Amino acid sequence: MSKPSYRGRFAPSPTGDLHLGSLVAALISYFQAKANQGAWLLRIEDIDETRSIEGADQQIIKTLARFGLHSDETVVYQTSEERQAAYQSAYQQLEQHKLTYRCSCSRKQLSGLTTYPGTCRNKQHQTEPLHSIRLKTNQQRFQFNDFFQGHQMQNIAEQSGDFNIKRKDGLFCYQLAVVVDDADQGITEVVRGIDIMDSTSRQMYLIEQLKLSQPNYAHFPVIINQVGNKLSKQNHSKTITHEDPYNTTWLALQLLQQNPPKEQKKTQSALLNWAIENWQPEKIFKQTQINYCVDTP
Ligand code: GLU
Repeated sequence: MSKPSYRGRFAPSPTGDLHLGSLVAALISYFQAKANQGAWLLRIEDIDETRSIEGADQQIIKTLARFGLHSDETVVYQTSEERQAAYQSAYQQLEQHKLTYRCSCSRKQLSGLTTYPGTCRNKQHQTEPLHSIRLKTNQQRFQFNDFFQGHQMQNIAEQSGDFNIKRKDGLFCYQLAVVVDDADQGITEVVRGIDIMDSTSRQMYLIEQLKLSQPNYAHFPVIINQVGNKLSKQNHSKTITHEDPYNTTWLALQLLQQNPPKEQKKTQSALLNWAIENWQPEKIFKQTQINYCVDTP
């Protein structure tokens, strides 16, 4: 069978089990993929090994399975040898194009700055044992038509300036890994929360430099709690490990203004099928936040 032309993904970091906010992210990417007769792939973004929690990957996979969400292909791990080799080869390409430089600036030196001032750009650090690797950027503007948020324009110089692609401890950075992964997995649409939208120009720049194919973007609104904070692990959102899949999916659909069926209780798989068939992403177009404050079935 030929590969479906739409390929989407859900890419959680294994820093804990899913909570309502991350489940909504999984569901949106799943409905978007399935409503487009596409493939939905799971990628465990464990690139930052220092933040990974042992066993969290398996817990996430188990919870997704309980909710009826299964990756259409083998789950990809960023720490796998194969992925690390792919990042290394992308990194070497950038190095060969003289786009990288060593940076020895400390966090303290950069604190309070929103963009990197270019301190190490023209220094020739040879021997510093501790240095990160930054990518040289320029003033180029990047435009994209976001599926949920509409036309966007970003400029790396205003957003971050030269950014790190390899850390002082030798680990590759998210920005590099994510573009190489999305390209290698043939992702056609990157569906993720609006809180990551400002990374897009950095990723588009990397895609251009590495001559990879450019996916579309779809940044959905984040779910916020009563006091206005994003539902996230950092805000100690409750995990959904033991929540009822049907009720929780119904709640997620309600938050996404999908008007889930109120009649007799269906099975989880029937609810997922209902949601795919009736998926109306336009209901959340141009929204940046969704307040978590609705009735349960
Ligand atoms: N790993 C990121 C997260 O858990 C998602 C990054 C992405 O979708 O590009 O928030």
